[in-house]
Amino acid sequence: MPDTAPGPAPVSAAALPLYAIEARGLRKTYPGTKKTPPAEALKGIDLAIPRGSFFGLLGPNGAGKSTFINILGGLVTKTSGEARIWDIDIDQNPRDARGAIGIVPQELNMDPFFSPMESLEIQAGFYGVPKSERRTEEILRAVGLWDKRDAYARTLSGGMKRRLLVAKAMVHSPPVLVLDEPTAGVDVELRRQLWDYVKRLHAEGVTIVLTTHYLEEAQELCDAIAIINKGEVIACEPTERLVGRLDQKTLVVLPQADIAKTPSDFGDVHVARRPNGAIAFTYRAREHSVEELLDRVRSAGIAIKDLSIEEPDLEDVFVALTSGDAS
Ligand code: ADP
Ligand code: MG
Repeated sequence: MPDTAPGPAPVSAAALPLYAIEARGLRKTYPGTKKTPPAEALKGIDLAIPRGSFFGLLGPNGAGKSTFINILGGLVTKTSGEARIWDIDIDQNPRDARGAIGIVPQELNMDPFFSPMESLEIQAGFYGVPKSERRTEEILRAVGLWDKRDAYARTLSGGMKRRLLVAKAMVHSPPVLVLDEPTAGVDVELRRQLWDYVKRLHAEGVTIVLTTHYLEEAQELCDAIAIINKGEVIACEPTERLVGRLDQKTLVVLPQADIAKTPSDFGDVHVARRPNGAIAFTYRAREHSVEELLDRVRSAGIAIKDLSIEEPDLEDVFVALTSGDAS
């Protein structure tokens, strides 16, 4: 037998799920009160988050991101639909499903009287992690809180509290870590520290799901992104493809002399004046070339001092999709 013959597939690898999280037709309607009507927060979410990905969940305020995440974490009861975490159905086996996920909540709610050390030990006990398997010191060091291990939580800064929540979410070593707006109100330096740790977890195989308002952050970190708007998934693609989706570029021309009035005869090319005197021509790359635009700029009598071309980023795609005029 040639020694290249394939052996049996390793059992552990074969047992790994294709998706870290799967949702099908997930709906949530919050009941109304005397003063407020019922809120349809999720209108049938279908989403499959591949195992091992660094996945971004983006959407404007009130889109339903936290509702989705809190259903996975067992904090919100869904109205209908199905969800699986690490191939475990959250209805059929809620305990195991919850054990497969660590959630860093959006709110900084924590007991002010426990130290980081105590918080982690309590959390580990809650998840039934045996004393011999606890990684309290390792985790506290990783999030930069080892020096603060005995401080009261109420004496920690906002950034430290945030990192303590990340630490708490990791005590049971879940294969999936979800962070709900983890960097809101966290300064740049601590944000970088947090991402260093999360990137390390990702490199070790943890699937990361994050919601963030910082689109730049999502574009840099996430390999795939879903955009949720008004309780519906309106896009779900690899980041690169999503960003490449807008067939739109902007040619920015700085004229040699200030022009009196914005040129208006550019048809479907959108023309705008910038505060510095530059003129921005936004066009569809499939329909116009820079060559052609420059010719038209010159024939409009504009002498060019300087020029540059701007490509769309995630922010532009996001705005286009959530305002309903996507290309
Ligand atoms: P996001 O996290 O994307 O900002 P949420 O999931 O927090 O969105 O909210 C989605 C919608 O559900 C919003 O309209 C919000 O007002 C409503 N909502 C969220 N939580 C509750 C709640 N506990 N009771 C009633 N309505 C809620
Ligand atoms: Mg939220």
